[in-house]
Amino acid sequence: MPHYRRRTLQNSFMKISPKLLLYLFFSVGLTMLAASLLSLGQYENALETALRDDLHTHAVTLQIALEEDYAEERIADAQKLIDRLRQNSEIYAVLLFDADGKLLAESKPMSDNTLRYPPELAAVIATRKWSETARSIDGKKYASIILPMQTGGKLRGAFEIIKPLSLIETDVFKARVYWFVTTILLMAIIFAIVFFVLQRSVIAPINALLSATEAVGKGDFAHHVKTSSRNDEIGQLAAKFNRMADSLNEQSLANRAETENRLRLEREIQHNEQLVIVGRMAAGVAHELGAPLNVIDARAEQLLNKPDIAAEKHERNLQIIRSNVARITHLVRQLLNLARPFNIHPVQINLLESINTALEQIESAAEKSKVSIELSVAENIVLAADPNYLQQVWLNIFINALDEMPDGGTLSIAAAPAANSFIVTEITDTGIGISPENMVRLFDPFFTTKDIGKGTGLGLPIAGRIIEEHGGRITAKNHGVGGAVFSVHLPLNQPKREG
Ligand code: ADP
Repeated sequence: MPHYRRRTLQNSFMKISPKLLLYLFFSVGLTMLAASLLSLGQYENALETALRDDLHTHAVTLQIALEEDYAEERIADAQKLIDRLRQNSEIYAVLLFDADGKLLAESKPMSDNTLRYPPELAAVIATRKWSETARSIDGKKYASIILPMQTGGKLRGAFEIIKPLSLIETDVFKARVYWFVTTILLMAIIFAIVFFVLQRSVIAPINALLSATEAVGKGDFAHHVKTSSRNDEIGQLAAKFNRMADSLNEQSLANRAETENRLRLEREIQHNEQLVIVGRMAAGVAHELGAPLNVIDARAEQLLNKPDIAAEKHERNLQIIRSNVARITHLVRQLLNLARPFNIHPVQINLLESINTALEQIESAAEKSKVSIELSVAENIVLAADPNYLQQVWLNIFINALDEMPDGGTLSIAAAPAANSFIVTEITDTGIGISPENMVRLFDPFFTTKDIGKGTGLGLPIAGRIIEEHGGRITAKNHGVGGAVFSVHLPLNQPKREG
């Protein structure tokens, strides 16, 4: 099975596999990315909530302990408790205030006045309700809770407990690294799976279909797509493609048989036509040779049977024999001319001069038949042609025209440029024209309507051959008002071949 390369086809546009891969990879990848970002955010929120819950527990426990100390008037114990808390690394600071909002103790010496006098403190003292805020100290974030302290329904003061949010930073960082690595890994796995599935289920079968289409396009109808056991749309497409290739194959075989049959018939017809032409030619040759041979035979017989006839008669007979031999020689030469290629040597010639040279030779014959000549050819038309052969053409056509006008008439010659750098010379006579049955035989060798000895039927076939050798053609038609028109089409400067 021939192997067809698809390089040109595939290079001209973007392949479907990278396109599909990109679409699928990006859509799945982006969805995954959004989902993981969301869950990462949720995880970070949960971490912060846990830290705040922790702060709450610490705050409430401290509130209970402090309230107990105050109830038992162990204010110094409260101070100690706060000092102990200073050692707890998870707590940034604890500040103790009296009922007027004055700072009594702090677990860490505070430089910032806003920390010593938190803005929310006044509200907590006034409402006796706790307040939770977020603080930013030296560019770092902290969670803070301010709680009131009461003993026996009496407000004794308030305290603030501050915890750094940076405690969860390591966990957040770890979570982010984990998220990043898992995302990359998952995307790589998705990419590999998408690639594998695409390659197996779409790209490979499409490529197989492509090369099959190309092969069938190049006429290899026997090329089939392997359908394997696929039971999907691509499998169906492949099966239908194979059926199409089969029917194309049948069609092509039928066409080939039909073409061969037609060619055989055409060859037979051509052969028959050739036989007819050869037969006609043989009849023409026999006819043309028959007349002079009869004359020669009769004169030779006379010379043989009457050896003592007068010397003039003897000479006359010999002259007649010679002239008939000359006629036969001429005929044979014309026949040979028709058969062998012409030795044409084109040179640049002036059309008007060429026509005038031919006209000079028929001038006296035209005068005798009272035929007037009209010439309308521009002086400057120059074309590449063999002057001698072209003379033969003009003479043949002019003499035929004169033959058709024995009682006078007009011979008109006009030349004009035509399409594709051709010059058309039209030779029109006012004779009786050409009958339809003769029109189709004009250029057949030996076709003549003239009397024996006057026409050989070789003039037009030879003229036609000469013009064809020049890359042109001769056409004939009847004139509207009677008479025939012969048109000689010649290329201006491109002779068909030289020599
Ligand atoms: P020939 O002149 O020897 O007959 P041609 O091949 O030159 O041979 O011409 C073949 C025939 O074509 C002529 O016998 C004639 O019947 C016809 N023919 C040629 N020229 C003309 C013309 N101008 N008008 C009518 N018939 C023509």
